[in-house]
Amino acid sequence: MTRKFQGDKLVMATHNAGKLEEMRALLDPLGVTILSAGDLDLAEPEETEDNFVGNARIKAHAAAQATGLPALADDSGISIDALNGAPGVYTADWAETPSGRNFEMAMTRAHTELEAVAAPFPRLAQFNCTLVLAWPDGHDEVFAGVMPGQVVWPMRGAQGHGYDPIFQPDGYDVTFGEMDRWEKNRISHRARAVAAFVEGCFG
Ligand code: IMP
Repeated sequence: MTRKFQGDKLVMATHNAGKLEEMRALLDPLGVTILSAGDLDLAEPEETEDNFVGNARIKAHAAAQATGLPALADDSGISIDALNGAPGVYTADWAETPSGRNFEMAMTRAHTELEAVAAPFPRLAQFNCTLVLAWPDGHDEVFAGVMPGQVVWPMRGAQGHGYDPIFQPDGYDVTFGEMDRWEKNRISHRARAVAAFVEGCFG
């Protein structure tokens, strides 16, 4: 039986501004005050696991322990079929540079690697989102959402964040980067995971 959320404050355990903005919009109907890891000046724990659930657990439990409040973490990424699922849990790592994250570089790498293996079209991929809600007593609940689509080139669109300009979701001829943010928030991997979270913990 899924534990229900009670209370009026929820910590969003992310320092990623793009994710935070999407999560705030998606969680708005719940009427819960969302405190961000940045607002609370929480340390960013190292993501040492090799899977989305493990890394989301690390972030959610660290924030719940630090604040004494229930904390929700998102671990997400894009898995490209022709690259055997890469970058997957290493999606953010592909963007790392000594001076911060560079997603143009990361998207260019994805395209270059697809060209190197002469990947056929459509270049199928999925965005995954795993959400973990952790309580200060150590309990947690896990929810997931997937959005299938394809990697396109060149990059298209300036909306959204991360790899949005090269991901065209199934059923659309625009990328997440070209899509109105309300539309993305209606269909995305994150929206699907949030729907499962809301049904599980608020239903
Ligand atoms: P992590 O969950 O902090 O390990 O990072 C996930 C990575 O996936 C980040 O680099 C994000 O930019 C990327 N990512 C996750 N969700 C999305 C999305 O909705 N659009 C584009 N990129 C995303």
